[in-house]
Amino acid sequence: MTEVPVAKDAVAGTNDLVVLKSVNKHFGALHVLQDIDLTIARGEVVVVIGPSGSGKSTLCRTVNRLESVDSGSILIDGKPLPAEGRELARLRADVGMVFQSFNLFAHKTVLENVTLGQLKVRKTDKAKAEEKARALLDRVGVSTQADKYPAQLSGGQQQRVAIARALAMDPKVMLFDEPTSALDPEMINEVLEVMQQLARDGMTMVVVTHEMGFARSAANRVVFMADGRIVEEAAPDQFFSNPRSDRAKDFLSKIL
Ligand code: ADP
Ligand code: MG
Repeated sequence: MTEVPVAKDAVAGTNDLVVLKSVNKHFGALHVLQDIDLTIARGEVVVVIGPSGSGKSTLCRTVNRLESVDSGSILIDGKPLPAEGRELARLRADVGMVFQSFNLFAHKTVLENVTLGQLKVRKTDKAKAEEKARALLDRVGVSTQADKYPAQLSGGQQQRVAIARALAMDPKVMLFDEPTSALDPEMINEVLEVMQQLARDGMTMVVVTHEMGFARSAANRVVFMADGRIVEEAAPDQFFSNPRSDRAKDFLSKIL
């Protein structure tokens, strides 16, 4: 069993790994993120929940600058994300992202999917990159699939490869945007188990999910969003047993 990379620089200056301050974002007339203040500590697991359209995906996408913001600031490990260029690619690699749709490179093998970023962005040599890729594929339970193409794998296997690919960059934080929503039910647990293990190993994680079992067992904090705002945040026990806002009560009554 190989060691999973955990958040780096555990002793670096501040304990705040991701800091959003007064972040605002519009899509035309739609104010999709409204004065978002959110601080995520090193090693913390934050689950983001809320109704469809509340801005959860946009929030994730702003954190690694797949979307720009209109105002406010976002710091990753104390540094703002640059607007573009090489420096952005390097800093973006510090923020691993796993999407609902698996987003693997269809014309590359599983192994190539996990080595590509290491070779291009981290400039790792090929033998080292492959060794690390194989170790990570073993870690997420798909080592026997290394030479296949993504379409030859089940959805659950593809999503575990996507996690291995993100981990190969030694990210400081991992963002998961509904990683199990597109999976057949019998494959959801195999992906959640990999995420649970990552959380136990100390990875800093932001997870958008409707899997309340995962939220209860893995999250340090639940953030509830509605209409572009953070309406409520609390420890999972407190949030699920005693939500304060009417919006959260209404949401929970529909999903639980
Ligand atoms: P969630 O992930 O919580 O379902 P999203 O962040 O995907 O919410 O979307 C929030 C709102 O922003 C929705 O109303 C959505 O239609 C809108 N939206 C998302 N992306 C875009 C875009 N690229 N252009 C215009 N509107 C968008
Ligand atoms: Mg979404």
